[in-house]
Amino acid sequence: MSKVEDYFNVEGKVIAITGGAGVLCSEMARSLGEAGGKIAVLDLSEKAMAMLSNELTEKGVEHITIKTNVLQKNDLVRAKDEILKTFGKIDILINGAGGNKPEATTSKDKSFFELPEDAVQWVFNLNFLGTFLASQVFGEYFAEKGYGEIINISSMNAFRPLTNIPAYSAAKAAVSNFTQWLAVHMNHNYSKKIRVNAIAPGFLLTNQNRFLLTNEDGSLTQRGNQILDHTPMGRFGEPKDLISTVMWLISDSSEFVNGVVVPIDGGFAAYSGV
Ligand code: NAD
Repeated sequence: MSKVEDYFNVEGKVIAITGGAGVLCSEMARSLGEAGGKIAVLDLSEKAMAMLSNELTEKGVEHITIKTNVLQKNDLVRAKDEILKTFGKIDILINGAGGNKPEATTSKDKSFFELPEDAVQWVFNLNFLGTFLASQVFGEYFAEKGYGEIINISSMNAFRPLTNIPAYSAAKAAVSNFTQWLAVHMNHNYSKKIRVNAIAPGFLLTNQNRFLLTNEDGSLTQRGNQILDHTPMGRFGEPKDLISTVMWLISDSSEFVNGVVVPIDGGFAAYSGV
């Protein structure tokens, strides 16, 4: 590294983003693409990818979209091969596919004792197994090449579980744990130039949690108000709040940072509530 202004350079880096057409990761695709990254959007939703692709084309971002289910290893292998055919290399994997669903959430009408096994399994599969399988497929390529960066998406509830969402909390705790495990495993067994880190976004008002944080008339639920009271910076996050940390983690500016989970939460994790 020479100049400080080169630290955050992602120009020409090929960045594969699973769940890349979702709320948070489409912002990463736009921002990292505008910064000169070549973007491969891997998502289940063809409709969301088509909309994002139009936007990326308008912005002049070099990109491809590939319909991919992160729970199907064959799909991930096919996607990896297609990216290599298009761009000739892959530098970065962002494991963005994830989320929660109401069926795996306790409420006034549904106790913990009634949470259905298939909903719990769905949440675990999407958040943990989807990250695990994509890391196997792309990680093997990074191991052969000798370098690469993996960014996982954990959550506040991996540090301390939030009420109502036991499956999502446990699955994100597994993602944080796996981030540390894989960082060490890659360095010990394959290359000292492979890094695996995670971000833990705080509370952003998005599709997965809107039903928990807002009422039908748009006002905040009791839970929504509790979160704001517990966030020293006094607001919900926005997708763009994640970008500079992701840029830092995927660029040479963090070249000695490995196996960390970075909270981006307006101080939520630091506040005891007193
Ligand atoms: P989102 O629902 O907007 O995006 C998720 C994307 O993943 C969607 O485009 C969806 O089509 C895709 N997807 C779903 N299943 C898939 C599969 N099997 N294979 C491939 N793609 C699949 O969610 P988001 O709010 O943008 O969240 C992105 C990530 O950030 C998730 O891991 C989420 O758990 C995490 N996160 C979100 C928040 C928040 O407040 N929104 C907070 C912390 C962490």
